[in-house]
Amino acid sequence: MKRRSYDIVIIGSGAGGGTVAQELSSLCRDGVRIAVLEKGPKLRDEEFTGREVEMAKALYEDGGGFLTAEQAMTLAFGSAYGGSTVVYTGTSMLPPERVLQRWSVPGLTFTDVEQRARKYMAENNVHLLEESLLNENNTLFVEGCRRLRYRVQQFPVNLKGCRGSSLCNLGCPNQAKQGTHRVQLPRAERNGVEVVTRCDVQRIENKKIFVRVSQKLEGNKGEPSTWEAGDYQIDAKVVVVCAGAVNSPALLLRSGFGRSLQRLGHGFTCHPAFIMVAEHSQPITNFVGHPKSFYLDQFAESDHFLLETCMYFPFTTAKAMVGFGEEHSRFMRVFPRLQMILVLACDEVDDHNRVTVDGDGRPVVHYRFTPEVIHGLVHGAITSAKIAFAAGAVRAHVPVSHSPTIERADRERLDQIAENPEFKPGKLSISAAHLQGGCAMGSGPEDSVTDSYGRVHGVPWLHVADSSLFPNSLEINPYLTIMALADRVAETIRKNMNALL
Ligand SMILES: Cc1cc2nc3c(=O)[nH]c(=O)nc-3n(C[C@H](O)[C@H](O)[C@H](O)COP(=O)(O)OP(=O)(O)OC[C@H]3O[C@@H](n4cnc5c(N)ncnc54)[C@H](O)[C@@H]3O)c2cc1C
Ligand code: SF4
Repeated sequence: MKRRSYDIVIIGSGAGGGTVAQELSSLCRDGVRIAVLEKGPKLRDEEFTGREVEMAKALYEDGGGFLTAEQAMTLAFGSAYGGSTVVYTGTSMLPPERVLQRWSVPGLTFTDVEQRARKYMAENNVHLLEESLLNENNTLFVEGCRRLRYRVQQFPVNLKGCRGSSLCNLGCPNQAKQGTHRVQLPRAERNGVEVVTRCDVQRIENKKIFVRVSQKLEGNKGEPSTWEAGDYQIDAKVVVVCAGAVNSPALLLRSGFGRSLQRLGHGFTCHPAFIMVAEHSQPITNFVGHPKSFYLDQFAESDHFLLETCMYFPFTTAKAMVGFGEEHSRFMRVFPRLQMILVLACDEVDDHNRVTVDGDGRPVVHYRFTPEVIHGLVHGAITSAKIAFAAGAVRAHVPVSHSPTIERADRERLDQIAENPEFKPGKLSISAAHLQGGCAMGSGPEDSVTDSYGRVHGVPWLHVADSSLFPNSLEINPYLTIMALADRVAETIRKNMNALL
């Protein structure tokens, strides 16, 4: 086994890891040695082709279809230089004050998190897209919401030079999205941080990290790792785990930290989601233009759902719709005329829903749909169909109905569906991309894994700085809040350097 040693090792390079790397990189000037270990590859600009199957395989864990233990939902998360920020859509939301108050983590204030999130808004060029760049899928959503007097709002997005190719979730081919792969990681590297890709951290043991570096296989995308393939032991004085809400708890569990931290892996939430598609009588623009410019959150508290505009690629759309045969292919044949709305349920921490590991240390996510989540998805689907009809759709595909195709003339029937919905886990195609929790912040080992600065209870050299820190659902798109929390963790490490090194 080869040996290496660093002062600080950051595991994962996504929203959390990229932020920590940038914020600690100034220490390199004083001789502090910092490495980021990233399991995924670093793709070259010309390798972002926008081809659905090829890019999903290159950028996502399990091609974006990581299945829960119950096999009723898939989880989408990135595995690449930049983590899920390579495939996110770039909607950039400040955390809701009411949610942070409800979290009530000792030492964590809304004002502090908000100020830090604003810093990254500025750094990532967050702004509202100008009207001339909005596509019809977005303008129809706004039109439908306004006719129904819903409080539709525009998403701030973090783009620079967007060319409206609508391929954000396959990695932007135009380098427009300002993810950590574009902003924070390159800056960290310029300051002296070493980023090692294709480097899978297998376990952590008392300031020792055991990793396996893999070779680039023939035909795969991305640059080869800068390290020779093989097994390594890395000695580190400080370790910051930023492997995401599935892999951070799994890594700590297979490293044995679950023995002293009973809440490790608990508290997993993810905004379970599906799409509602509706057919218009003429083609609409959706596969050109930025896909996600508007949202509706007025039902988040009362009915547990959010709606967002979205663009699903043909393969994903076909998979996302229920049913087979003529009814299914009828919608797919009119793909250029489909309006799409993403329905996201606001889930809460539930005892059953958590990350564990199997006998080989691989993550297993247990997730059941609570009555609130089912309510959110059902009412979200029906509200989306109403919005689409108000915008002029001729028929809608409502996945929670016994017969999913609802004609415009039958739209009055929508409220009846809510009274007797068809919601069979496994039959509906539910997926989630806002993965949160598993290493929650809190007051002590009885109720949490870390304190509000990401310091793991009882293990002074070990920190967590990613989405797994959330003690409950954020109820809104999470990446800016993750960066804000990672910024706090990095600041705490900087302040305590003398004691830690
Ligand atoms: C398709 C999609 C669209 C999204 N759109 C938005 C959006 O518009 N707005 C928004 O706010 N949020 C969005 N999100 C969510 C957002 O991207 C994530 O919440 C955020 O990136 C999570 O940050 P993280 O640091 O926790 O993990 P990630 O960004 O997922 O990074 C974790 C990294 O750790 C690496 N890793 C894991 N295990 C190991 C290991 N053992 N060894 C080494 N490395 C490891 C992974 O390869 C990965 O690169 C989206 C997510 C997806 C998937
Ligand atoms: S819509 Fe804009 S940000 Fe998204 S992939 Fe196209 S150019 Fe990139």
